[in-house]
Amino acid sequence: MGRYIESVCKICRREGIKLFFKGNRCYTDRCAFERRSYAPGQHGQGRGKVTAYALQLREKQKVKRMYGLMERQFHGYFKKAERIRGITGENLLLLLERRLDNVAYRLGFADSRSDARQLIMHRHLLVNGKNVNIPSYLVKPGEAVEVKEKSKNKARLNEALEAVERRGIPQWLELDKASYKGVVKALPRREDITMPVQEQLIVELYSK
Ligand code: SF4
Repeated sequence: MGRYIESVCKICRREGIKLFFKGNRCYTDRCAFERRSYAPGQHGQGRGKVTAYALQLREKQKVKRMYGLMERQFHGYFKKAERIRGITGENLLLLLERRLDNVAYRLGFADSRSDARQLIMHRHLLVNGKNVNIPSYLVKPGEAVEVKEKSKNKARLNEALEAVERRGIPQWLELDKASYKGVVKALPRREDITMPVQEQLIVELYSK
């Protein structure tokens, strides 16, 4: 199979659900899904028979896009997930959820994971009071993730924080909006990931 390239909005349309890859844009009438959505089976969804391999590849592509990862990084997470006890597919998703860029996004410090990554790389966030500028840092229960004092007046950050309620904060995290501080209350669980993902397809793909 050739290279598998598609825009993130196409993924939303194909899945028949908004996956919020593009931050604020996803909530406006510029959202491609709002402008042209269609249910599974309708025009544009199925051109011919989709092979099991194509479905597995699509699912991997979707999750990679969700978390903004390159193939090499993503495969690294898979290998790590295999080494952890339990169900590999779930382990994979839960590792991805613990990335600091995802946590900053989930807490509302940014309205997309790519914005969250910029925030971290430009040293606007602290973990347990210390500078952490590594987006892939894996948070642990008990850790606090907060915005540096001098960064609290960033307009973009405040807009994102204002808007976080519309997507909700998962139960394993807690936000104190007034102090720009979040706490990791527990490890994430599979049910905390509400986006539709069939992680078993990714396991099948990598197990070939
Ligand atoms: Fe999906 Fe709409 Fe966001 Fe595009 S703009 S990624 S279609 S939710």
